[in-house]
Amino acid sequence: MRRFTNPWLHDEHRFRDVLRWKAGIAPKDPLSAAPDHPAPAVPIALEGAPQDGWRVTWLGHASFLLQGCGRNLLVDPVFSDHCAPLPFPSLKRQVPAPCRADELPEIDAVLLSHSHYDHLDLATLRTLGKETPLLVPEGHAGWLGKQGFREVREVSWFGSGEILPGIRATATPAQHFTARTPFDRNRAHWCGWLLEGGGVKLWHAGDSAWCPAFREIGERLGPVDFGMIPIGAYSPRWFMKPMHMNPEEAVQVFRETRCRRAVAMHWGTFRLTDEPLGEPPLRLAEELVRQGIPAASFMAGSIGESWLVRG
Ligand code: ZN
Ligand code: ZN
Repeated sequence: MRRFTNPWLHDEHRFRDVLRWKAGIAPKDPLSAAPDHPAPAVPIALEGAPQDGWRVTWLGHASFLLQGCGRNLLVDPVFSDHCAPLPFPSLKRQVPAPCRADELPEIDAVLLSHSHYDHLDLATLRTLGKETPLLVPEGHAGWLGKQGFREVREVSWFGSGEILPGIRATATPAQHFTARTPFDRNRAHWCGWLLEGGGVKLWHAGDSAWCPAFREIGERLGPVDFGMIPIGAYSPRWFMKPMHMNPEEAVQVFRETRCRRAVAMHWGTFRLTDEPLGEPPLRLAEELVRQGIPAASFMAGSIGESWLVRG
């Protein structure tokens, strides 16, 4: 059976490294003075798709509602209380979801970046309905089909298609891995998604370390009007660097993919790694100052917040 890889050189860690990290016998990052509180939240305003442009709403962690061209799409929707196969207390949501999945407007399609539990939540997908079209990277259609989902379409890196009239989606490369059980490591691929419609380009980076593909994404598909870029789950660095970018690398990705504006994601919602929950936006703000980028260009927003994007 096929296993997917990242097609460039990078460090890799194995199961025994997970044990070293969890047992506390591996090196720790320097202690941080950042506050350990989750992302701020604001009441969500659930409206229809805007007449002109797109409305992007952060639903927490890597979950977004994208509304444009008269359509409602979701990326990586997770509404469950835990991002784990069992309700492990350590993987409990640290801030409530801004609404319930069944309160969302009728969803026309869902884009999924990969199969990790903090991105692919079967309970949420079941609530949306098994006929909802799902767009996935390669290797997901078989098992999602077995779960009863009837409209699953796989797309390979830089593969692209019109998913709804006037809306084109392109899968973009990322450096990551997949596993839902101890037995399916890298049996399915991982990606980000570029969405084009109504003269606007939105880009969700997926879950990724920094990698050379981001420059190529910028050259082939940029500039991006609005990016959604991960900034959290990076500590300890020796272990997380091959799978998750840190805020400084996220700013590099913002530049390389030629984002005009972006919002930070993959932070402040679930406690996945060692850094305090409130550290990623502080490091993002410092790096933006250091690189002379306005804070309004790459925002660390609030869960439930919406942004209007025009081309
Ligand atoms: Zn992941
Ligand atoms: Zn993740």
